[in-house]
Amino acid sequence: MDFNLSPEQVQIREQIGRVCREFPDDYWRALDRKKDYPEAFVRKLTELGWLAALIPEEYGGTGLGITEGSIILEEINRSGGNATACHAQMYTMGTLLRHGSEAQKKRYLPKIAGGELRLQAFAVTEPNAGSDTTRIETTATKRGNKYVIEGEKVFISRVFESDLMLLLARTSRYQELDDKTKGLSVFLLDLREAKNTIEVKPLDLMINHHSNAVFFHGTEVREENLIGEEGMGFRYIIDGWNAERILVAAEAIGDGKWFIERAARYARERVVFGRAIGSNQGIQFPIAQAHARLQAADLVRYQAATKFDRKEKCGAEANTAKLLASEAAWEAANACLTAHGGYGFAVDYDIERKFRETRLFTVAPVSNNLVLAYLGQHVLGMPKSY
Ligand SMILES: Cc1cc2nc3c(=O)[nH]c(=O)nc-3n(C[C@H](O)[C@H](O)[C@H](O)COP(=O)(O)OP(=O)(O)OC[C@H]3O[C@@H](n4cnc5c(N)ncnc54)[C@H](O)[C@@H]3O)c2cc1C
Repeated sequence: MDFNLSPEQVQIREQIGRVCREFPDDYWRALDRKKDYPEAFVRKLTELGWLAALIPEEYGGTGLGITEGSIILEEINRSGGNATACHAQMYTMGTLLRHGSEAQKKRYLPKIAGGELRLQAFAVTEPNAGSDTTRIETTATKRGNKYVIEGEKVFISRVFESDLMLLLARTSRYQELDDKTKGLSVFLLDLREAKNTIEVKPLDLMINHHSNAVFFHGTEVREENLIGEEGMGFRYIIDGWNAERILVAAEAIGDGKWFIERAARYARERVVFGRAIGSNQGIQFPIAQAHARLQAADLVRYQAATKFDRKEKCGAEANTAKLLASEAAWEAANACLTAHGGYGFAVDYDIERKFRETRLFTVAPVSNNLVLAYLGQHVLGMPKSY
């Protein structure tokens, strides 16, 4: 496979880089300190149409592929920013585009593409069901032409910053199911209509991520906002997972490149014992090692993205890319912190911020243990380990 970027893809990278230069390190640093949302940055990206990259042109988007979507998110992180603030609008497209009805797409996508509506909240995780999604307990009970939602979600990011939420809830009791992957359904919940019946409690986390515990007290969703068929929601969410893993791999690679650039520059410039610290193998080799691992991860990422865009099966590549990229970025983060000595801990250097941010990718949106379980079971044919 040839992973040379096309002139259009190179241009996307350059254009995103230009936007990011308007939002330099001190912009992200100040937000991190106050745990504020990068409202101006997200607005700018939306105005320029970048967050509608995966929305087809007929619905007002730019109709680009996952390769281009991943380049956009990578470049944001490579520039020192944090794409997690806006990545959900791309993560959710897999489910909505593939399984949403024509009426749902016509109703919502043009408004999302134009920035009138934000779909940045994706609600799956619950206190008693993190990795094991089939055990979720939040219920959606059909009453007339509505579903009524009761239950609790946790770690649901950007609820206050969204108008719409993609929500997974249980429409059949777990005990009654022969196939435990059935009985879950996906809804497009309009948060503006539901706000009196939803309680949202912000979580205090290690990173600036706007995550919340969410409590549903009889929240009503119109029947027409059920995505696809009732009971098939877990399948629909899984369909979106390959895209999500490719996009998160790209974000991690963006972080990794940022760390390597900073580390190599500092190692060339910082003089200790009369010579640049980068001339010591103890500093140089970990940076070079992380760079090599990052390059390998990047190749698998492009392989996964290319296959995805060709509509070929890509579960093995998407999962491998997510695993390798998140680990390589973490390795780069450590090499960068070590190279900077005490200054790595100084907030003004931004390394400690990116260090915290990049650690997330080994855990969320899916933990690397579950990625390994996928590879062991589905790629290598070993028994299910859970
Ligand atoms: C900052 C942040 C933002 C998030 N945003 C969202 C969001 O917007 N929407 C959303 O739905 N969720 C979100 N999440 C939740 C995230 O997807 C979950 O945290 C993640 O899926 C893991 O679930 P858990 O935390 O319940 O861990 P658990 O499932 O409790 O697992 C704990 C640990 O045990 C390991 N483990 C469990 N079972 C096995 C096994 N069989 N074999 C090997 N290891 C195992 C896991 O890999 C993990 O390391 C977010 C999380 C964070 C931290």
